[in-house]
Amino acid sequence: MTKRFGKYVALNGISFSVEKGSITGFIGPNGSGKTTTIKVLSGLLKADAGDIKVLGMNPWDNPEVRSRMSVIFDKLYFPQLNTVEDYLYDTASLFDKLDPENVIQEFELCKFRKKKLSELSAGYKQKVQLASAMLNDPELIIADEPTANLDPNARNEFNSLITKLNRRGITFFISSHILSELERVITHVVMINKGKIVASSLMNTFIGEDSENKLLILVDNPQ
Ligand code: ADP
Repeated sequence: MTKRFGKYVALNGISFSVEKGSITGFIGPNGSGKTTTIKVLSGLLKADAGDIKVLGMNPWDNPEVRSRMSVIFDKLYFPQLNTVEDYLYDTASLFDKLDPENVIQEFELCKFRKKKLSELSAGYKQKVQLASAMLNDPELIIADEPTANLDPNARNEFNSLITKLNRRGITFFISSHILSELERVITHVVMINKGKIVASSLMNTFIGEDSENKLLILVDNPQ
């Protein structure tokens, strides 16, 4: 995949794959090209070159692939004055697939259902975002720095939810600029720096540099 902005080459012929059923971490420092890659994978941006397949389809040419995947971001960018309940019911009616009540129960959002999104903590906002992503009944969830604004407790809780949903068969592709935020949950890692892939492997055989350029060797995953 190659993507230029004017003369600037943001993605310089990157190539990687994400295994079905994996939780793949997409790690790289700020400005390395993570969001640009995710925008191409979600069909929001057209690559200049590359053979890009998401669930077997090019997301730019086949926007219908969006009905099988969900994309979430570092923050909930949606109407903050809506209540949790209204937001999830509205989202569910767009997809027309699942009963939002099941998701509210599963994500333990009952206590918060009448609260406005703006009143929630950063951790609960991300929980609501993940809950709304589930309403699309996705095979794949792509997440752009979903834990960037969370404190360690909220991040652990969010990561546990990801592990739980992954056990149900959902594949995750999650970006972060800090490997340590994700290293306990990811099964695979793809590292990007300055628009190029610098490492790609199973997490338990990963040898590479993290985004702070410290040498990281993980020959055996302690888990
Ligand atoms: P990351 O998500 O890893 O922080 P991005 O994909 O957002 O990185 O950005 C990669 C590079 O592309 C950065 O240098 C950024 O300034 C540049 N870039 C991203 N979007 C645009 C745009 N719309 N126009 C020009 N440059 C952009």
